[in-house]
Amino acid sequence: MEKKYDVIVVGAGPMGYFTCYELMIKNPQLKVLLIDKGHDIDKRRCPILEKKITQCPKNKAGFSGCKPSCSMTSGFGGSGAYSDGKFNITDEFGGWMDEYLSEEEVLDLINYVDKINLEHGAPKEITDPTTPEVYEIEKLGISVGLKLLKSRVRHLGTEVNLQVLTSINKKLKENIDMLFETAVDEILVEDGKVAGVKLEDETIINSDYVVLGVGRNGADWLHKTLEKHNVEFKNNRVDIGVRVETNNIIMDNINKYLYEGKFIYTTSVGTQVRTFCSNPSGHVVIENHEGIMLCNGHSYHDSKLGSKNTNFALLVSHEFDDPFRDPNEYAMTIAHLANKLSNGSVIVQKYGDILKGRRSTKKRIDEGFVKPTLKEAIPGDLGLILPYNTMKSLVEMIEALDTVTPGIANDHTLFYGVEAKFYSDRVKVTNEFETNIKNLFVGGDGAGITRGLAQAGANGISVARSIIKRSK
Ligand SMILES: Cc1cc2nc3c(=O)[nH]c(=O)nc-3n(C[C@H](O)[C@H](O)[C@H](O)COP(=O)(O)OP(=O)(O)OC[C@H]3O[C@@H](n4cnc5c(N)ncnc54)[C@H](O)[C@@H]3O)c2cc1C
Repeated sequence: MEKKYDVIVVGAGPMGYFTCYELMIKNPQLKVLLIDKGHDIDKRRCPILEKKITQCPKNKAGFSGCKPSCSMTSGFGGSGAYSDGKFNITDEFGGWMDEYLSEEEVLDLINYVDKINLEHGAPKEITDPTTPEVYEIEKLGISVGLKLLKSRVRHLGTEVNLQVLTSINKKLKENIDMLFETAVDEILVEDGKVAGVKLEDETIINSDYVVLGVGRNGADWLHKTLEKHNVEFKNNRVDIGVRVETNNIIMDNINKYLYEGKFIYTTSVGTQVRTFCSNPSGHVVIENHEGIMLCNGHSYHDSKLGSKNTNFALLVSHEFDDPFRDPNEYAMTIAHLANKLSNGSVIVQKYGDILKGRRSTKKRIDEGFVKPTLKEAIPGDLGLILPYNTMKSLVEMIEALDTVTPGIANDHTLFYGVEAKFYSDRVKVTNEFETNIKNLFVGGDGAGITRGLAQAGANGISVARSIIKRSK
């Protein structure tokens, strides 16, 4: 293997592979190496998805996970590879790139990424948030204090998402070297300028530029590594809540006209609650986050694989101040409690049981109208897990949502807990996403700059363009 490259990109998620893609298209002379600790796209296998096991394997240290890394969150395609690929074309959410670039620039970059996905087989259909039907939904929402965040959504679906990734991967291999199952251990810095990387097996690879797009599961490593070089960070927030599951019929209008209705709401206790990641005809799944089991959801593009239910996350923002500075640890502790009470799984409870202050039992769930798509979830009591204000916020939000989706606040709606969305510590960067170390760029979810496929990809393109400008 070459020991000197022009550019090393660490992390083969959308941030990383779109950096490589733009470098390849705009300056194919550059020698580029893409490194990821997970597997290449064709080798990514999750034993849970393949139904070989129902729970993550445990290693000797007591943490769950596959070796060398979890195929759900690592490898070519990054943590989004098994996602159902809802590509949001908007500057209203999905990250904070607009704090570095103008809204128009962000939208242009997202459209550019979307064009590349289309060239590699993404479906042509896209939702239109400007129809009279959406206007009516928005109006109903405003009447109870719900703000609708609007976006054009291209829904790839889990299987098409994998096909698009496979096609991009094949194209990249014409010009880009790739190294998988290889974790980067250190960043090499000489005289304030990046000089390359050191791998876990001590191999040194030199380069003029390094791009770190290590995602949320690489965020702790990023923090520890960059802190040694006096790079600054900030973070004081985490989102905690539940995954809601209901019958498709309740979500009919939203599913049909918006595909995903993203609402935000301010509660009587001053918290902000939002809906997130809606999956029509979807399935609720367990996400292994560093050994803690969290809820998540996905849906297939192929309707034959779909369920009769829609699921979405309901998340309450939690902010902290001195002396506590570890919001992620707070959420992990709450999720850990849910795992404890469900013997390593997650809890499911009927909304009616939450209001009655009693646990759900298997019998009560079986009698319900909503059949849980996550069979491994254990009927229980989320009241024993979620703090009072969090639970109150979720109840107020679901009651408000009942105006735009009549019936969502009925007894049979299911709450799965806990779902949490972590904000990676935000790295201090210039508006070219360069750190205080010259030619060391960071971006994507791991750097706390994005939180979604579209902005992560857009971030990659913008970093590539900065490198191209400098390397001329
Ligand atoms: C289940 C699920 C569903 C989702 N659904 C959607 C959706 O529908 N729409 C949407 O917009 N977003 C969705 N997301 C979020 C989306 O996947 C992320 O926002 C996006 O992937 C972030 O891209 P990234 O490149 O910053 O990081 P990632 O995609 O996380 O990629 C980071 C990569 O870096 C690698 N890495 C980390 N540390 C190292 C190291 N030290 N050395 C080498 N490699 C390393 C990891 O193995 C990983 O492959 C979903 C996420 C999940 C988990």
